[in-house]
Amino acid sequence: MAQGKIGVTTENIFPIIKTFLYSDHDIFVRELVANAVDATKKLQAIAASGELKGEIGECPVSVAVDKDNKTIQIIDKGIGMTEEEVDKYINQIAFSSAGEFLEKYKDQIGSIIGHFGLGFYSAFMVSKKVEIDTLSWKDGAKAVKWECEGNPEYTMGEGTRTERGTTITLWLDDENAEFAEDYKIEGLLAKYCKFMPVPIVFGKEKEWKDGKYEDTDKDHIINNCEPLWTRKPADLKDEDYQNFYRELYPMSDEPLFHIHLNVDYPFNLTGILYFPKVKDRMELSKNKIQLFCNQMFVTDNVENIVPEFMTLLHGVIDSPDIPLNVSRSYLQSDANVKKISGYITKKVADKLDEISRNNKEEFEQKWDNLKLFIEYGMLTDEKFCEKAMKFSLFKNTDGKYFNYEDYRKAIETEQTNKDNKVVYLYTTNATEQYQFVEAAKNKGYDVLVMDCPLDAHYVGLLESKIENSVFTRVDADVIDKLIAKEDIAKVEMTDDEKKHLKEVFEAILPAENKYEVSMENLGATAGPVVITQSEFMRRYRDMAAIGGGMNFYGELPESYNITVNAENPIIEKITASEQGFSADNELLKQVTDLALLANGLLKGKALSDFIARSQELLK
Ligand code: ADP
Repeated sequence: MAQGKIGVTTENIFPIIKTFLYSDHDIFVRELVANAVDATKKLQAIAASGELKGEIGECPVSVAVDKDNKTIQIIDKGIGMTEEEVDKYINQIAFSSAGEFLEKYKDQIGSIIGHFGLGFYSAFMVSKKVEIDTLSWKDGAKAVKWECEGNPEYTMGEGTRTERGTTITLWLDDENAEFAEDYKIEGLLAKYCKFMPVPIVFGKEKEWKDGKYEDTDKDHIINNCEPLWTRKPADLKDEDYQNFYRELYPMSDEPLFHIHLNVDYPFNLTGILYFPKVKDRMELSKNKIQLFCNQMFVTDNVENIVPEFMTLLHGVIDSPDIPLNVSRSYLQSDANVKKISGYITKKVADKLDEISRNNKEEFEQKWDNLKLFIEYGMLTDEKFCEKAMKFSLFKNTDGKYFNYEDYRKAIETEQTNKDNKVVYLYTTNATEQYQFVEAAKNKGYDVLVMDCPLDAHYVGLLESKIENSVFTRVDADVIDKLIAKEDIAKVEMTDDEKKHLKEVFEAILPAENKYEVSMENLGATAGPVVITQSEFMRRYRDMAAIGGGMNFYGELPESYNITVNAENPIIEKITASEQGFSADNELLKQVTDLALLANGLLKGKALSDFIARSQELLK
């Protein structure tokens, strides 16, 4: 039996492996199974080349746990290793590369270890002893046994394997004994090995017999060796994509669309992305895209690999060209990652564009669920925005959808103001802003529905992208001034009169807000007092509320514009009354409260006073 000292550059690698990698130590399952799968694929390649004669048969990888002895075995029928190979790959290269790896990345180890395992050494994260028993495929090879107890000493001698392949046995240490539980390993196999390209057997299929589950003769295979993304799109139906989605996310709603990614130059990438239904912020769940490397699960955090808005999508991406042995922050500047990110963005935009043109009705139907994703993308990704301007839709209060070009044509004539800007009117809540929406429609204007949480930011973006456009919420001004076609003659007032007007309203209106009061001639049919809030103030407050660097506006008191309509008969009556235009005038209070009520601003004591006063007036 040979003995030796492992060629490690960092003298004591084992304590480092245990302490540094503590949080992610379950990746040893992935690393060891991936090695077994690699060895099997290599054997298949050798057999295919004709170098290895005879049938190799089925070569599944098996994983077995022994709860009583606290051991885990990973058994393959792959190429195996000769004594020289164990010495070269395990004693020298592997240990030293792990040493270098730890040395180089010890500061960022936590952030990258999930991506890049330590290969074979990760076994020592959970074991007090590891054994390799292996028989190479090569003619005349002898079985080799290698053992190491978590220190740089190892022993190597004759092995017991009679069949080609490798058995790795882990003797779990006390802290990690839980890994010898079936459910624990099965869970990890499901997480990391679900789509590996060689069948992985874990125990037997069970059946329900005599009131309990019993093992059958059939192997329990935990993985799907040919996941959908590795197959040709031409061979697949919509149903296949839906079934695969359900396999990935058993609890989710049906997705809206899918995109099959497939590129082999200038980088290699396959995958399937799904558009989930997202209606509001509460439903946004990131970390649903799973990243694979040659069918081996790497991570479900694709941040910095795809543009941020894409992290709202679901699905899988498989690429051996995403560097995994670097830190997250470095990823973004990696040339390959940039290309990959650009490619995915373009693919997603092209797919949406294609559906919007070829399947207009379907696209409209799904728009409400897509809108948030698309707006988020447009706000954060310039290139995506450019493309999305062509297929994005507006929805109006009648539930009709328009692309941006058609909508412009439809409203241009009626809704161009005196400054030659086209005014896009919108409501954020058609029920709450009902009277303003009606007033606009009665005037022949069209009103858009902008009720998405990002819309406060989004309308600003549209103003910068659509030439000569302004977006105005329907309650931003009195109807005649909402789309100002000509200057409206002001009611002449002296400074004293203006001051008096302001004082009167400040005495009547809720004290917590600020008010601008003016007197205008709005015609006999318009209401006596109209309360509006300027587009600018309101939009910035809304933006502050959803975040995005506008906090200053969020801290200002609410401010409203009070417009008194001098031509309304009630105002004429108030002015002509004995009490005149004063804060004590019950009628003035009443019409002001009605205006507050219409804006949803009458609350608490003011509301109950109003009800009491109304009852008095009705007597
Ligand atoms: P990596 O897999 O990244 O090369 P590892 O430390 O996991 O690094 O493994 C080192 C080497 O040991 C492998 O490249 C392979 O040559 C050999 N090896 C590991 N496990 C097996 C196995 N089950 N069968 C055959 N060879 C193996």
